[in-house]
Amino acid sequence: MLKTTMKRQVTLGKTGIKVSRLGFGGIPIQRVSEKEAVDTVIHAIGRGVDFIDTSRAYTTSETRIGIALRETGKDVVLATKSQQHSANKMRRDIEISLKELQREKIELYQCHFIRDFDTYKKVTSKGGALEGLLKARDEGLIEHIGITSHSLDVLNRVIDDGLFETIMVCYSFLETKAEENVIPKALASDIGVIVMKAFSGGVIDNSRLALKYALALEGTVVIPGVETKELFDENWGVFVDDLALDRKEREEIKAIQGEFDKQFCRRCDYCQPCPEGIPIQHVIGIKSMVKRIGPGILKEGWPKFAIEQARGCTECGECMERCPFELPIPELIKKNLQWVDEQIDWATGLIRP
Ligand code: SF4
Ligand code: SF4
Repeated sequence: MLKTTMKRQVTLGKTGIKVSRLGFGGIPIQRVSEKEAVDTVIHAIGRGVDFIDTSRAYTTSETRIGIALRETGKDVVLATKSQQHSANKMRRDIEISLKELQREKIELYQCHFIRDFDTYKKVTSKGGALEGLLKARDEGLIEHIGITSHSLDVLNRVIDDGLFETIMVCYSFLETKAEENVIPKALASDIGVIVMKAFSGGVIDNSRLALKYALALEGTVVIPGVETKELFDENWGVFVDDLALDRKEREEIKAIQGEFDKQFCRRCDYCQPCPEGIPIQHVIGIKSMVKRIGPGILKEGWPKFAIEQARGCTECGECMERCPFELPIPELIKKNLQWVDEQIDWATGLIRP
């Protein structure tokens, strides 16, 4: 018999969407073969997953989820997102998502990765992405509108403004800040809460501890990403078992928190601005990004930019004065650059075996 009375279903705020509290995150299925990805999604749905989150930014993820959904014929709540900031570009992305997901309608469409107040202003101003989303909602292409951000300050503002029906927030036992303010505040405002990074982007490798901790804060959907049936079963096994953390598990969590205290970046960006324009949190977090998506990501787009900028770190120390977690930032940057150089032969562009 289960000792905890924790609910395993949740209603996502005013959207009225009722789903299982353990959802499926669509990032890692990019890094396996199409067959393995599709099989994993079908397997998860078969076990009982009824909420799947993906993004236009996750390369093949929408396509693979679309194939899996067509093959299962089962109905799940789909959430996807786009990083476009203008109404027109957002509209184009919604149309692509519908095509890739093989759907006539998507239940939740989110403004993806709103990094700061300027970006938030852009997407919510006239002609911004929100306008495109509202129009698509009026036309029945999407049902609800959400937003995702790594910044708790931005999410606080989002909740105050009440323009979005759901938020997606980072929350884990290495990144606990959201439990003090953002998550309870959103729930009190009837805004649905989707928890990302329950494993802190792959830093926590104990699924039992990570999921139990994240699920202990009720009223949310937690969406760990997995790329194999075995990894999915590991998570699902935790979810359907007793969710209460016992004394030994709490001690284990404390020990891991101690170990990562001065290593783990909480993505708050309080260290900014860096005079050399280094996107510090992305450089420090590059290893976990590669773990989830694969080393190919280092060769293009923002990861490549982040690496190039990071090589210009002058070790001035300004960022350390601002980091509330006292991280040795220049040292972590150096370590990450060294690790990146071990992954790629920059002269040939080839990933090292
Ligand atoms: S130490 Fe490096 S990362 Fe930090 S502010 Fe100076 S240049 Fe930027
Ligand atoms: S380095 Fe420190 S201040 Fe900068 S984002 Fe990470 S935790 Fe926040």
